Amino acid sequence: MTNPDQPQSKEPGQQVLERLRDLERRPVEALVLYQARRLETLLRHARQTVPFYKDRLDAVFDADGTLDLSRWQDVPVLARQEAQEHAEHLKATMIPADAGNALPDRTMGSGGSPFHFIRSLAAVAADAGNTLRIYLDHGFDLNARLCDIRLDVSGNSSWPEGSTRKAWTHGEGTGDYALLDINTDTDKQVEWLLRCQPRSLFTWATNARRIALELERTGRSLPLTSIATSAEPCSQAVHDDLRRVFGLDPVDILGAREIGIVAFPCNHSPLHHFAAESAFLEVITDEGKPAGPGETGRIVATGFYNFHMPFIRYDLGDYVTLSDRPCGCGRSLPAISKIHGRARARFSTAGGRKIFPDVPEAELDAVMKPCAWQIAQTGIGALEIRVDGLDLRQVEAQRPRLAEILETGLDEPVSFTIVEKSLQPGPGRRKHESFRNEIG
Ligand SMILES: [Zn+2]
Repeated sequence: MTNPDQPQSKEPGQQVLERLRDLERRPVEALVLYQARRLETLLRHARQTVPFYKDRLDAVFDADGTLDLSRWQDVPVLARQEAQEHAEHLKATMIPADAGNALPDRTMGSGGSPFHFIRSLAAVAADAGNTLRIYLDHGFDLNARLCDIRLDVSGNSSWPEGSTRKAWTHGEGTGDYALLDINTDTDKQVEWLLRCQPRSLFTWATNARRIALELERTGRSLPLTSIATSAEPCSQAVHDDLRRVFGLDPVDILGAREIGIVAFPCNHSPLHHFAAESAFLEVITDEGKPAGPGETGRIVATGFYNFHMPFIRYDLGDYVTLSDRPCGCGRSLPAISKIHGRARARFSTAGGRKIFPDVPEAELDAVMKPCAWQIAQTGIGALEIRVDGLDLRQVEAQRPRLAEILETGLDEPVSFTIVEKSLQPGPGRRKHESFRNEIG
């Protein structure tokens, strides 16, 4: 039977969007009820048809099959590595008709080997609606070209041509869509962009920054009216450079290929909202408890519409701080005040805490060349500053200034060495990490 609340596999983005517009402004209680219904459908399906979940969801089911979501916290969190190892058992043996076809996809898994997974077309349709909401809310010109520079696993979007499609993913507007694999040198990306003349650019946050700096360095420009970023933390330094070069603020989107869009920036405030109509998104502290308003934790996601390969309590590893006040825009979707990045971007203090460093990147840039440094924590109170393409003696001469910046941002004294290391993105590109905890 078709569920009127569920994105249908062949539904255009516009129709999904209308449902999102309705859901996002329902009272919180109605949203919670909606989520509970979506969860119930998914959990029953997973328990009956997905071998991996046969017993794993027992905590929330009574002996007579009654679902009790008050015990939801007892359902084990699914780590990425675990999902990758059990990929075959995560596949459903039967699929509801309105889930649509299976779409194979893959992402870079842990340890550098690709994680092959499946998404239902219904989940992709939900994502198209979410994407359209973001583009419309933030004034993207859907009738002009969008250039997207991301990891292209198909191998069909290499420089110099990249690949083009007639329409953006949500199918609205008359603008076309051009894709280039991010494993392309920055100067070649810029050359491609100058040929494509897009109005909108979508790429990883530090890649957008590299493009901006390369355009600035070579005295060229692009007629951009919108920039969307994802995949990496969109730091203040990224914001500052994009604003200076393009006069634009990036629209920073948090997502995961296995789940889809997770959080999007509000168009009325500096907060982000969870895309809570398409996934059940929890924020849990390191103690495993739900984070409250103003608290920081990592996101655990359950996508509602992937019936081919359900990800239930899937640990995304991204840390966020929940807003301590509701957003003034009228949406009842949970609000996030800060997106921090992955666990590995946390600094281990001498007191045993883990904190996201509040180190001003722009000040470090002033000492070291932009995008050509990385700070690694190698022990308690010990850092390694890696620089690329700079005279080490020049950086050494700035040691007192570096110490001052680091100790202010980390709130405790640290010792550090300065070493030369290649930080240029090469083939098999990984996400850039300004700060990286490497304590074994
Ligand atoms: Zn808002």
